[in-house]
Amino acid sequence: MPLRDAHNRIIRDLRISLTDRCNFRCFYCLPNGEPPLARKETILTFEEIAYVTDIFVSLGIEKIRLTGGEPLIRKDVPKLVAELAKLKPALQDLALTTNGFDFPRHAAALKATGLDRVTISLDSLDRDKFLDITGVDALDKVYTAIDAAKKYGFEPVKINACVVRGRNDDEMVNFTRFAREYDVSMRFIEFMPLDSGHDWSREMVVPGREIHEAINAVYPLRLKEKSRGSETSWKYAFADGAPGEIGIIAPVTEMFCGACSRIRLTADGQIRTCLFSTNEHNLRDVVRNGASRQEIVGFIEDVVMKKEPRHYINDAEFVPASRTMSFIGG
Ligand code: SAM
Ligand code: SF4
Repeated sequence: MPLRDAHNRIIRDLRISLTDRCNFRCFYCLPNGEPPLARKETILTFEEIAYVTDIFVSLGIEKIRLTGGEPLIRKDVPKLVAELAKLKPALQDLALTTNGFDFPRHAAALKATGLDRVTISLDSLDRDKFLDITGVDALDKVYTAIDAAKKYGFEPVKINACVVRGRNDDEMVNFTRFAREYDVSMRFIEFMPLDSGHDWSREMVVPGREIHEAINAVYPLRLKEKSRGSETSWKYAFADGAPGEIGIIAPVTEMFCGACSRIRLTADGQIRTCLFSTNEHNLRDVVRNGASRQEIVGFIEDVVMKKEPRHYINDAEFVPASRTMSFIGG
């Protein structure tokens, strides 16, 4: 029986944060470089991650994404990928989200050990703006990472840009041209109130509809069939048949909670049933206290039943999540 929540949503998708540390300081995520919340001894070991992932997959999880913080800061990620890849074919999709900085030197090993897909974050095509947004002068490294992803066959390569009013919203057409030239899936994400600096404001959100209009005016888009579903993005092809794809992820202005199929596991072993959860469920201690496999299954099933019906970003009484993005696992 697959995992099902109290609102009849089936949970197929697990995001695992490997660390809450990061070598970037993206202003919309971790602007001040707060120290990690998780102490070393509270971080799940790769053996623990592989053990609980095996249980999650036995409960119907089909897609896993490794994230963080910056997941490639953790040593030997290909070894973990090799362990998780043993869960295929029940595990249908094993992916990684990275800022790209360390990706090129791991790309071959990640491919060889069974990583299926990679998403690379890229918030500006301008070197100075990239530095301003991420705190690191690493635009060239990200281009190298995209080349490596293509070279090692991680198709389709997805690129994430978090769009923020007044910072990079003038680059949407340039990003689109980049998607066409590089034949990548370029995904635009609305800025969510998950930044550790708590600077988010509604005025900084560029609505998905506005992103669509700006791009469509220059490069007409065609909504792809079967777009969305339990996916978070609207996917578009280019009407003129050019390569590449556009994805628009609009969690703030076009809530997609009703179709959510996701849960998250933080680096220190807490299950979060929503990005915006205000409480967490301590799977790590259940495992470390010697629970049987059946008891762990029961714990996970109970937690999933408590998944929030939706987020409350647009409600007057919105309460910020108990952790911010880099500490949750984006
Ligand atoms: N460090 C890796 C990276 O940057 O790709 C993985 C973790 S990061 C938290 C995952 C994704 O979350 C990134 O693509 C980033 O743009 C996005 N993100 C972070 N903070 C966000 C926010 N406040 N609103 C929307 N997206 C955000
Ligand atoms: Fe680090 Fe990724 Fe957050 Fe940027 S978005 S600070 S790279 S975790």
